[in-house]
Amino acid sequence: MFESFNIPADKICRDFLHYMEAGSMADLIDSLPSDRDLSDDEWRFLIEGDYDKQRLFDKADKVRRQYYGTDVYIRGLIEISSFCKNDCLYCGIRRSNKNASRYRLSEEEIFSCCEQGYELGFRTFVLQGGEDPFHTTAWVEKVVSTIKERYPDCAVTLSLGERDRRDYEIWHQAGADRYLLRHETASCVHYEKLHPHEQTFAHRMECLHNLKQAGYQTGCGFMVGSPFQETGDLIADMRFLREFRPHMVGIGPFIPHHDTPFAACPGGSLARTLTMVALVRLTLPTALIPATTALATIHPQGRELGLKAGANVVMPNLSPAAVRKQYSLYDNKICTGEEAAESVDYLSRQVMAAGYQVVVDRGDPAKTGCATSDGQLNKK
Ligand code: SAM
Repeated sequence: MFESFNIPADKICRDFLHYMEAGSMADLIDSLPSDRDLSDDEWRFLIEGDYDKQRLFDKADKVRRQYYGTDVYIRGLIEISSFCKNDCLYCGIRRSNKNASRYRLSEEEIFSCCEQGYELGFRTFVLQGGEDPFHTTAWVEKVVSTIKERYPDCAVTLSLGERDRRDYEIWHQAGADRYLLRHETASCVHYEKLHPHEQTFAHRMECLHNLKQAGYQTGCGFMVGSPFQETGDLIADMRFLREFRPHMVGIGPFIPHHDTPFAACPGGSLARTLTMVALVRLTLPTALIPATTALATIHPQGRELGLKAGANVVMPNLSPAAVRKQYSLYDNKICTGEEAAESVDYLSRQVMAAGYQVVVDRGDPAKTGCATSDGQLNKK
């Protein structure tokens, strides 16, 4: 319509922003979650517009309380290997980083992390690692089935990257409940700027679909402020999430690592990351959304602010203390003190001070439609 009047695009945008600032912004936030897809201009304004973000965060918090009350689920993160055959340009454990120190946990080390975690109240164990060829189909199958045998009341989440469909099926049959595979960016052009040629966007997406089909609670996600990211890419992320409907969404700021090609790139901001957390909560009201370690790394109150913007999960580090620093995806990663799983009491107090409570629970997704009209906590 505007094209026919020959009005420049930036003027349309300015006018639109002015119009939104003039009052209907509140209506737009109040209309979320919405059944309709928002227009590009609406998304753009929500993501980068200069408006009262607290209103957005409050709405996201209200929606999360409708489905999850004040519950915060904790996941014990076990970083099982820092070997990786991939070469993601942003990641500190990429194969080309010759300075990265590499380790791999043995089965027994993983089981002892679970034992300690169970004692501390964790009912989900997340096995995450670089794409390590040592992790054969059978090895992972055995580790998963042993954990499930020992802790039948616990969920096992895997985050081991792109694998054959058959691997995903076998591990699911062995008892793995969830799989985290961030899509990283929903724009193919942007994806190609962050990864080498052999790592394709099409394959990442195929893996995500295979995971869903195999029956996993599937998690995807993206970094905020990654190099070359434009607002249009974040809009593509929102549209992808809307369509794919993952059970979990990991959103963290990009943080540069000194031994990667992106060492000199600026990191993602706290404000933009919180905005995306809130928008994801409003787009997928029942999603499990962690207040990520990366968010807690860039700001001392990152975790609490993430919870207040709609996140409902935290993933403290259960890896053996000796290897935590070696799983170095980005600079200054927090991995001791309050971040550590041993400090679950401290974490609980921190979460409580933010107005929520850590619960001893597997923390499965709320079923859609289980929100109660009186806003009471839904129990599944
Ligand atoms: N190999 C598995 C995979 O590819 O999904 C799991 C491990 S991978 C290191 C986990 C996540 O770390 C990635 O999906 C990416 O989003 C995040 N990550 C890597 N480097 C990062 C950086 N520099 N800043 C923030 N997040 C980063």
